[in-house]
Amino acid sequence: MSQHSTEAILLRAWPFHESDLMISLFTREAGKLRGVAKAALKSRKRFGGALEPMTCLRAHYTQLPRQEIVRFESFEPVVSPLAEPVDYLRAAALALYAETLEAVLPEHDPHDAIFRLTPAVLSETQVGRCWLPVTYFSFWITRLSGWLPDISRCTVCAERLSEGGFFHAAWDGLTCGIHRREGSGALAPESLVQAVRMLREPVDALGDAWPGERGRDLRRFLWRTLERHAERPLRAAEVLIQLGG
Ligand SMILES: [Zn+2]
Repeated sequence: MSQHSTEAILLRAWPFHESDLMISLFTREAGKLRGVAKAALKSRKRFGGALEPMTCLRAHYTQLPRQEIVRFESFEPVVSPLAEPVDYLRAAALALYAETLEAVLPEHDPHDAIFRLTPAVLSETQVGRCWLPVTYFSFWITRLSGWLPDISRCTVCAERLSEGGFFHAAWDGLTCGIHRREGSGALAPESLVQAVRMLREPVDALGDAWPGERGRDLRRFLWRTLERHAERPLRAAEVLIQLGG
């Protein structure tokens, strides 16, 4: 039995047994962990105020011998997403982050680059300026998971994609017009330019609020890629599409 304390981001909490909760956390030291928080619904002292998805917190937990799941002892909230105003769009953006991390991260496998990406994107995700951080998160989570080949070139012939490219739900990366597959979507040259900027710049250096239509094709491409690798639909992505993205 070993005791641990780590920075973490809460992904999901659901009723488990009586007042216990099962919780999925993305921790800095051990990656994604699932565990039981005993009497979490009763004990506001040990877990109070830190049970909303995408809360950044410090988690104290016990790793039990030969057990996949851990025992969460207590959480100390560091930053709550509810400290800032919330509207439908911001709520859907936060839900997308939690759902995507839950879907793509393997358990017990630390990923420091994704861990550092998440709070940077969270602090930019505010009412009236969600589309840029949502796109940036979707881009980098796809890339850091290893599912985004060089997007400046066709994956078939390696021709430079100066006129934009085409993406298909069944394949990683982009193709040129000649190697476009039946049923592909188009990625406009402007969206490719934005994607290349995302490769080079931190999210807070990329400028002002984006309108919903900017990067819409890029998000479709990234979400299709994420959904195929995660082998499940991203429900929050569907909500974001309905909200104009
Ligand atoms: Zn080609």
